[in-house]
This record gives sequence, structure tokens and C-alpha cells, in this order.
Amino acid sequence: MKNFTCQHCSNVVYFENHTCVACKQWLGYEPYSSRMLATSSQQSSPIFHLEGRNYMYCNNHQHHVCNWLIEANSTGTFCEACKLNRTIPNLSVQDYVKEWKNLERAKHRLIYALKRWRLPFYRSTPGSYNLEFNFLSGDEKLKDNQSAMTGHANGLVTINLAEADAISREQVRQELEEPYRTLIGHFRHEVGHYYWDRLIYENPNNLAAFRNLFGDDRADYGQALEQHYKKEVSYSWKGNYISKYASSHPWEDWAETWAHYLHMVDMLDTALNFGLLSNTETKVVNAYNHSNFMDIFEAIVPLSIAVNSLNRSMGQPDVYPFVTPKNVLQKLEFVHQVLRNYTTVNN
Ligand SMILES: [Zn+2]
Ligand SMILES: [Zn+2]
Ligand SMILES: [Zn+2]
Repeated sequence: MKNFTCQHCSNVVYFENHTCVACKQWLGYEPYSSRMLATSSQQSSPIFHLEGRNYMYCNNHQHHVCNWLIEANSTGTFCEACKLNRTIPNLSVQDYVKEWKNLERAKHRLIYALKRWRLPFYRSTPGSYNLEFNFLSGDEKLKDNQSAMTGHANGLVTINLAEADAISREQVRQELEEPYRTLIGHFRHEVGHYYWDRLIYENPNNLAAFRNLFGDDRADYGQALEQHYKKEVSYSWKGNYISKYASSHPWEDWAETWAHYLHMVDMLDTALNFGLLSNTETKVVNAYNHSNFMDIFEAIVPLSIAVNSLNRSMGQPDVYPFVTPKNVLQKLEFVHQVLRNYTTVNN
């Protein structure tokens, strides 16, 4: 992710900031210019200005879950990221609001990245689906028979609110023996299924290449997952998959590999924007628009050692706890090519 500065005082600010710590102005993210706009914090309904246009906060700003801006004269009240929500949690429960905030932070970062690739959120053909999000607690599951399980179906990404609770997420991580379990990881994985439908299934050439590399997606999905959770999978997944879960079914292999590619690109993009890698150390200038996959991967290797070492010096777990087997590189490169081809043909 690029680094942002306050429009008023040029202080470096985080993507999630609602106010500037230096000049105390309100801050809002304007997604088209990808800039952090600032305005007087004295105003109760702040209006932001950029190049002759006026902007206001998304309606979800009132719950402190969104700092994105919309044009002041627009007909809708939600920003591009919040518009995609189908169900939000019951706001009368304080804990749910806190958990929802964590989910939105991760979701907004995801949407930022999808926009960098100019990926579609809305259906292009009558048979396809819009991308939408359901944030459900266990209670909602009981009320209307919807499953609160984190997952994806026909464009609808469901995230169980419990995932936003760090303690329960850590418990599940340990139970499933996963080296990495984060909210942003969930979002990246689940939208991977959506874009499989859009970029692979709807494209015969990509589908043939996919089956060649990841295996046949027509294999029984329910059975594959059941076996995975029963731990009946006896073969060694290391060497061929980015994670154990990826070995359960070609769709999961794709979603895990896709998510991993998004991790790599965001990490590299952030490092480049903060000047952590010089142009003698990497050929990549823009991680979201670079033709050679191996240049991206080769920049990630020393970068991950550096960031893991930084974390270890603070007694924190590794940021990037992965070793990428050779066979997985081909799959990551396939994700890279599919994204590049989409971006080149459709934009
Ligand atoms: Zn400022
Ligand atoms: Zn919003
Ligand atoms: Zn999945």
C-alpha cells in the first residue's frame, strides 16, 4: 500500500486515520485520487475539497468503521467499499461494533488493492454475481437460518464476527495448525473464490490452464473438505502447496495461492513506497503493474527476512511465516498472469 500524507500539513498518516495526529484536522480517504484529504475538525459535518470538487464522509463514518469519502452531491450515502455490504452486525451490541470495525479495516485494505488492479465488483453478464459481504454473528445464524461460517457462495463473502476476535482466531489457528490466520488473509482468500468464477471459469483458456496446474475443480468439493477437516489426508502437502488447506481441493488451492499473491504484492508495494528497497535491490517500481513475476518474488525473499527479523527483535511472531516451494511458484505466476491479462484487456 502507498504511504499517505495529510492534505493539510503533509504529516505521514495511516490509511485508517480519521484525524491527523499532527494538525488535528479530520481526514478522509478519497479513492479516485487515492489521497488523504483534510478539513477543519471544528465542523460537525465536514466537507472536504479537492480540485474543485466537494466530498463528505461515507455514512459508516458515524460508527467509526470507515474514513472513505464520497462526492458531496452523490445520490448514495455509502462509499465504494461500504456499498458492498449486504449484512452488517446488530449495532446495539457493543462487542459486535468493535468486531465489525476490525473487519472493515481489513475489507477496506482489500478493496484498495482490488481497485489498484481495476478488478470488477459488479456482474458483467446475467449469469454472474456482484461481490457482496455478510458480517454475521452466531445469533444471526440462528435467526434466519443463514450459515455464519466464513466462506463464499455466488459472490457473497460471509465472515463470522468471531474471526474479528483475536483470541478466538488464535485458538482456531492453533487447532488447524495454521502458521498464519488474519482477517485480511480471510478476505483475500474468500474473494479469490469470487474472482475464480469471474477470471477462470468464465474464460476457457484460463480454465484449461488452471486444470493443468491446480487439478480438476470438478472433484467433489464437499467430500474433499470433509476429508480435510477429519485429517484423513495422508500425503505430504509440503512441496506442492502454499498451505495445508490448499491441498484440500483445487478451488482452495487457487484461493490460498491467490491470497498469497495478494500478500506478496501488498507487502512489496508498501516496502517500495516507504523506500525500503532501492532500485539497485529490485527491478520492481510498481508492484501492482510489473510484468515479470520472478522480479516480484525475488524482492520478497530478502524483504521477508528483513521484516521477520524486525518482528523478532520486538518479540513478535514472523510477519511472513512462509517458505514457498518451487512448485508453488508456477501457481503464483499463473495468478500473476491472470491478473495482468485481465488488467491489460479490460482497462
Ligand atoms: Zn495534518
Ligand atoms: Zn464507507
Ligand atoms: Zn476457500
